[in-house]
Amino acid sequence: MAIEFRAVSHSYSVEPVLEELSVSARAGEITCLLGASGSGKSTLLRLAAGLERLQAGSIWLDGELLADRDHHPAPESRPIGLVFQDHVLFPHKTVRANVAFGVERENGDAVDRALENVGLTGFGGRFPDTLSGGQQQRVALARALAPQPAVVLLDEPFASIDATLRRQLREATRAALKAANNVAIIVTHDPEEALELADRIVVIEEGRIVQDGEPADLWSSPASVGVAMLFGQAQRLSGQATASGIETSFGVLAPRGDVIGDVDVVVRPEAIDLELDTSSPIVISDVRFLGRRALVVIENGDDRLRASIDGMPTALAVGSNVGVSIDADETFVFPARRGT
Ligand code: ADP
Ligand code: MG
Repeated sequence: MAIEFRAVSHSYSVEPVLEELSVSARAGEITCLLGASGSGKSTLLRLAAGLERLQAGSIWLDGELLADRDHHPAPESRPIGLVFQDHVLFPHKTVRANVAFGVERENGDAVDRALENVGLTGFGGRFPDTLSGGQQQRVALARALAPQPAVVLLDEPFASIDATLRRQLREATRAALKAANNVAIIVTHDPEEALELADRIVVIEEGRIVQDGEPADLWSSPASVGVAMLFGQAQRLSGQATASGIETSFGVLAPRGDVIGDVDVVVRPEAIDLELDTSSPIVISDVRFLGRRALVVIENGDDRLRASIDGMPTALAVGSNVGVSIDADETFVFPARRGT
């Protein structure tokens, strides 16, 4: 089973929200659609669910047309389950009745299985207002999964859950989706969340897909500055690339392929090593203890960089001058965008 979006474009007014976007997602694989607020993520899900009519392009389920401009089946006739940010449960129905909504009558097994998959066996008789926010969101997930839809779409499902519960809920959700084995697309703006949940991450920027791959590929070979900046607390520096090296305010990096001219260099804190050097113009402006690692902030004039150093670097005191070496493997270089 697979869902496929082909050259989908959409606009609510003049500005396009989605631009000839093509992407697909397969069963058994959790796909995260990752992008900033306003990038068009919800619009894509709403088009698939039938809450919005297609203007251009098409959506296919297993090679069969689901929707296009001329073909707009009603939401309830689509084999698609939806989970939104705010778990909209029926307050006066029990958990069981909530989950059973949309399931063929007398299919109690499907309801039991859905509750079991989200770890809520035994909660069937409770009412939503006796549950925590996280439990309510699991009921919403169970309700979406109970009819065994071919596709389940989750739109920022943990956004209204407090941070401590969120991690637990991600694990429960991933387990439930893996057990259900349908096509699952989770929308998020949180890169950490995408890493924790996804088998595959699709990055969307302003209505276009900029990269689509396994988490490790995005981490090690980001296709753009935007993707590189998503992970590992990356930081951006301006640089000047020549054939002999890339000059930045924190030293010269080894040259990178055929990239010449103004560049953006994206650096992760772990890639940076520091050594006391009284002749260097770079100064330590802050040191923070973070447990196994320390965060050391360095400055050269107006430019700042955060370095993550193993242990507690007692020699690296605030005010010291340091030389900087940057590991090329954790550093990404892109031609600078004109005008920025
Ligand atoms: P995301 O879910 O990634 O935050 P959306 O798909 O919700 O993005 O929205 C993309 C853009 O479309 C935003 O600029 C948003 O303001 C606009 N938009 C979304 N829904 C509507 C609507 N019903 N009417 C007008 N503009 C909308
Ligand atoms: Mg949204």
